[in-house]
Amino acid sequence: MSTKSMPPTVRDVDRMHDLYRQGGQDRQMAPHVVYSDAPCPHARCGQRMQAIDFRLEAHGRNIHDSLVRAWWDDIGFVGRCPGCNRWVHFTIAAKRAVSAEEAAQLPHLPDDWHTSAIIL
Ligand SMILES: [Zn+2]
Repeated sequence: MSTKSMPPTVRDVDRMHDLYRQGGQDRQMAPHVVYSDAPCPHARCGQRMQAIDFRLEAHGRNIHDSLVRAWWDDIGFVGRCPGCNRWVHFTIAAKRAVSAEEAAQLPHLPDDWHTSAIIL
């Protein structure tokens, strides 16, 4: 009855995600993320944004606190891609292309977020 060689189930991955999220939330850790896919999610852009340190502390306490909360609540936030200027929704698990209408429903990074962030 060994399960050591079993790949993690969807439920295991969900549990790991929850555990990770809870730990970050408890410590109000600064959002850093490494995505499995490198380029901007918008078609024909190609801007690399695989690893991001958002450096939210550069934008003052209010912005920092509300965006850190949104990040660990798994809501994430939106910001304009520095390559194509279209909206991207960033979360712990993924980044995705969103329309301006969708972006309007979500917490926003400051317009100049990419000038203080580290984007690799
Ligand atoms: Zn882009």
